[in-house]
Amino acid sequence: MTISQGVFVDARTSQIAANLASVRERITAACHAAGRDPESVTLVAVTKTYPADDVARLAELGVTDVGENRDQEAAAKAAAVPGVRWHFVGRLQRNKARSVAGYADTVHSVDSLRLVDALADAVVKAERGAALGALVQVSLDDDEHRGGALTGQVEKVAEAIAASPVLALRGVMAVAPLGWEPDEAFARLAAIAARIQQRFSAPDAAADWISAGMSDDLESAIQHGSTHVRVGSALLGKRTPLG
Ligand SMILES: *Cc1c(COP(=O)(O)O)cnc(C)c1O
Repeated sequence: MTISQGVFVDARTSQIAANLASVRERITAACHAAGRDPESVTLVAVTKTYPADDVARLAELGVTDVGENRDQEAAAKAAAVPGVRWHFVGRLQRNKARSVAGYADTVHSVDSLRLVDALADAVVKAERGAALGALVQVSLDDDEHRGGALTGQVEKVAEAIAASPVLALRGVMAVAPLGWEPDEAFARLAAIAARIQQRFSAPDAAADWISAGMSDDLESAIQHGSTHVRVGSALLGKRTPLG
């Protein structure tokens, strides 16, 4: 370990710095190819299965937004690494809503009216200073067993979020279904996003986020308007199968 400018630089930090540079280059190149401003895409670093030290390294390297998919793990890391914005991106059980409302800036995976109610209750009980951001997760293939609202339910869930004084509707999120061409998936999401944005944008809540794109398909997602890419393995390495 060496000390430069008062900062500990170890081999892991160097590796993450190189990975981060290459992910940022991919985002910039994809934006240029799509005729978009790279500033219009936020990198959410998904740190699931990796230790809080890696979150601290990412923060030190300038990452401002971090994503997690399990409450217990997220809560511990959020307590250990203050000063970054936390995004909850995984399936959320209603009994975890209270905990998530305590540390998350935005929940990307809101997919039912019951979850909207649970989150709204949780925000009131957590006495947060600000509204909790919420995205409707869309099941692009209408598979009920994986996460996401069926495409026919998306507007209802969005409407419930928009109607809550303690939640702020930010937009939509999806994961490309297994076996689908990313372009097909993200084009479908873009069409849904446009409807939601048109119908629900308010002066103080634009509902214009599209959370789409991961390590393997972020270029396609950016081509189709993604504003938030959720990138894990390209930054931190391949997870073990359970992760
Ligand atoms: C794990 C995860 C990611 C990141 O996936 P990578 O392929 O590692 O980039 C993005 N979104 C969600 C919902 C995830 O669970």
